[in-house]
Amino acid sequence: MVGVFSRLIVATTVRMPKWFVRWVSRRYVAGPSLDNAVVVMRSLSSEGACFTLDVLGGGIHTIDEAAFFVEEYARAMDAIIEHSIDANLSIKPTAFGLLIDETAGFDNIRQLVMRAAKHDMFVRLDMEDHRVTTATIEVVKKLHSLGLTNVGTVLQGRLFRTLDDIAHLEESLGAHADYRICKGIYLEASDISHTQYTDIVDATNAAIDRMLSAGAYVAVASHDRPVINHTLSALEALGMGPNKPDPRTNAMEPRVAKGPGYEFQMLLGVRGPLRRQLLSDGHRVRVYIPYGKQWYEYSIRRLKENPTIGTHVAKAFLMPWTNRP
Ligand code: FAD
Repeated sequence: MVGVFSRLIVATTVRMPKWFVRWVSRRYVAGPSLDNAVVVMRSLSSEGACFTLDVLGGGIHTIDEAAFFVEEYARAMDAIIEHSIDANLSIKPTAFGLLIDETAGFDNIRQLVMRAAKHDMFVRLDMEDHRVTTATIEVVKKLHSLGLTNVGTVLQGRLFRTLDDIAHLEESLGAHADYRICKGIYLEASDISHTQYTDIVDATNAAIDRMLSAGAYVAVASHDRPVINHTLSALEALGMGPNKPDPRTNAMEPRVAKGPGYEFQMLLGVRGPLRRQLLSDGHRVRVYIPYGKQWYEYSIRRLKENPTIGTHVAKAFLMPWTNRP
């Protein structure tokens, strides 16, 4: 019943005027400008959270369009430094041109990662759909081989290939491997990915175990209790946890602006109470902050992909004081 109600609200919202969608989405998107993102990060800093900034957009058609992202991320980096915010960057490799011209796309990413390295800032390559999985992993390997170790990618629990990818990265990067692990947002075909909820959770948890036992840095990006609880048990079994030095003998020295071998990550506006609980238990929690002129397209996509948001929309409308990120 709640599901039907929620879907109905989402279906109505996506047909509403832009101002209404903006009002709903202000919980999930910092705003159209970098200044908006800075305001949100400064406000959430008081909770003890740290951040990763995402410039909305992508879907470029010419390599020249990638220049916008190279420049905007450089501006974002400057703002993080200027305001002394505990934040790093998340980029979409295709927005830098990886699908249009692999060499030029790589150079664009390298330029940003080099600039970030000068400030000890980490750059995460978000993982997009299966067409760029291998290319994205190759970019990370190549950057590491050039001495740029302040970069890591995302692996998606739902893909059958993920355990092999971990083994491969473990071999090439050793303990320098630094992952974000998530279920994966793209609904991939059943010949390359799990499609059932339980299988996806089990596969994601298996990937987390494998990454942790390989000594890698593991950022668990999920709002789902079975994934978070599994992670908490796995950490306890390894003697890892808040305010404890990473006890794994195969792990690296502590990393700049990172947790003790792991962190949790959540999207802005999603499951705030759970985020605050993890923070108050002492875990490092990084909030993914999207901003940019393409907030409308992003918001509509999020609403459509997660119809449970409908209940949050209704709640925000009826009880506006609860609508905080
Ligand atoms: P779910 O079972 O989907 O969600 C658990 C509960 O959390 C839901 O019932 C709902 O209440 C709440 N919830 C979850 N998502 C939302 C939402 N968007 N809005 C409102 N409520 C929500 N995927 C990729 O493919 N590539 C990436 O690079 C990538 N990066 C990510 C970075 C971060 C920080 C996070 C948190 C996710 C990222 N994802 C990425 C998305 C991820 O793969 C999942 O699609 C998404 O997180 C939902 O899975 P879940 O584990 O949170 O579980």
